[in-house]
Amino acid sequence: MTQSLQGIGMTSQRTRDRMVNRLIEQGIRNKKVLDVMRNTPRHIFVDEALASRAYEDTALPIGHNQTISQPYIVARMTELLLKAGHLSKVLEIGTGCGYQTAILAQLADHVYSVERILPLQRKAKGYLWDMKIKNVSFIHNDGGWGWPEYAPFDGILVSAAPPEIPETLLQQMAMGGVMVIPIGEGGRQTLQRVIRSEKGYEAEELESVSFVPFLSGRE
Ligand code: SAH
Repeated sequence: MTQSLQGIGMTSQRTRDRMVNRLIEQGIRNKKVLDVMRNTPRHIFVDEALASRAYEDTALPIGHNQTISQPYIVARMTELLLKAGHLSKVLEIGTGCGYQTAILAQLADHVYSVERILPLQRKAKGYLWDMKIKNVSFIHNDGGWGWPEYAPFDGILVSAAPPEIPETLLQQMAMGGVMVIPIGEGGRQTLQRVIRSEKGYEAEELESVSFVPFLSGRE
């Protein structure tokens, strides 16, 4: 890794190790998720002025009124998604700066990532390119449509909160597939995991979370 990817001082491997120790204390157990988060530089996904805060357990601004999700949330959602076992095709709604995308790309065969704000998508593409991550396809669109051309997906991860589960996304889940999604209005929502089986869809309500709203249309 080049020095900018590796980081120094507050962006070093030691700082990342401390972040992972905190994730373990917070109850994250999946070793693959912990290893990927230990080895993925989060500081390159935020503005240089915020790089020294990249490993704090907090959401940070990425422009356009959006935020990079808190490390705990990224770890938790990824761990919940891996319930399906090996992930071959994952649909991500809300690429944002691409940090969650980078984590998923190291755990799945291919990630299909949808973002409605074009400048954010462009930045994310650049960061993943710098990291030499190649198994991601990006589309600039309203994630409410999913990505029908590549459906069904065995994992769907949604990083913005709609008031209810979009029907289109349910239809794009594979049999045995898992969707992790925050549901609710205002700044407070409930994280849900939906599993699709022959019998239908089963939703579990997990914990309270705070995501930006799921908006329609493109910018
Ligand atoms: N996973 C991201 C979090 C980004 S914040 C990360 O690790 O940084 C949520 C993102 O969802 C924002 O970029 C926002 O523009 C996007 N978003 C909100 N509603 C959307 C929709 N309907 N379709 C696609 N993207 C959406």
